[in-house]
Amino acid sequence: MKAIRVSQFGDPAVLKLEEVPDPAPGPGQALVRLHAAGVNPVEAYIRSGKYARLPALPYTPGMDGAGVVEQSDAAALPPGTRVYVTGSLTGTYAEKSVSAASDVHPLPDRLSFEQGAALGIPYGTAVWALFYRGQARWGERLLIHGASGGVGIAAVQLARSAGLRVTGTAGTPEGLDMVRQNGAEAAFNHRTPGYLDQLKEATGGRGFDMILEMVANKNLASDLGLVAAHGRVVVVGSRGPIEIDPRAAMARNADIRGVMFFGAPTGEIFDRISSGLEDGSLAPVIGEALPLEEAARAHEQIMTSAARGKIVLTM
Ligand code: NAP
Repeated sequence: MKAIRVSQFGDPAVLKLEEVPDPAPGPGQALVRLHAAGVNPVEAYIRSGKYARLPALPYTPGMDGAGVVEQSDAAALPPGTRVYVTGSLTGTYAEKSVSAASDVHPLPDRLSFEQGAALGIPYGTAVWALFYRGQARWGERLLIHGASGGVGIAAVQLARSAGLRVTGTAGTPEGLDMVRQNGAEAAFNHRTPGYLDQLKEATGGRGFDMILEMVANKNLASDLGLVAAHGRVVVVGSRGPIEIDPRAAMARNADIRGVMFFGAPTGEIFDRISSGLEDGSLAPVIGEALPLEEAARAHEQIMTSAARGKIVLTM
């Protein structure tokens, strides 16, 4: 089969398309013929070699994907079942992948394989951040600071279906439209001067009960001026340090809560996501689908701005 292999850490050019043997599933595992793989920022951090946990070289990147079961001993996953996978033992930037059966979930017919590949890390992280770490409640005012990417759009859909009042930000007119179309009652451009004042005005000066932050190294200090009394700033993404004034949090009795999806209770999280797929409240938005051999381009794009939903690879 064809797979992307990384033999040394470095820039996107280290992602090479190679011919490798098909992986073989063991007991309790499933072999899936993949049609699409999700591309997440964490895979670019790992590929660059600048991440706390690095795999042994050589390796195939990717944890998210969707396709058709080829082999499995699980009664619920007979060969031919359309599935999405939320973890891989062999890497999903490949034509075939082996996953623990518990990481393989039925994919409803109305969703494409590309949409299935957009579920794992983005939707899992959004559920963990909103409802577990953030303890989001019906009727609360939520700001998703960076709503146009993979995690952001997932969070817009999930929060809206849970009855929150959602405001989102994006950096392009297309991103802003998409954020509104997916359930935000208002959207603001985080590249427009003065947008922070507009955000505050939109809450009548009261602030947001919860802020889901995708770029904390730029925004955490200003988030502490946007959060309501007793509110929470939930940090999903950060690419470096930032100086904050702790008194801004103290004055509001506000919490800053960190999020790490790895280690979260994925069984109950993906049960929740699967029911949202069944009832139609969740439907991933694909911004760009590139062929597997263009994995390097996908990694360049995921690290630059102008998100329009999720980037996936197809095979
Ligand atoms: P993505 O698809 O690349 O989306 C990035 C988002 O950030 C886009 O909405 C982008 O908007 C927005 N953004 C860019 N500049 C911004 C700014 N100055 N202020 C506010 N938003 C800004 O990435 P993703 O998959 O959604 O992941 C988002 C972040 O969460 C990444 O840093 C990722 O590493 C992290 N993450 C963390 C976990 C965890 O367990 N903690 C899990 C998954 C992801 P425009 O492109 O429209 O400007």
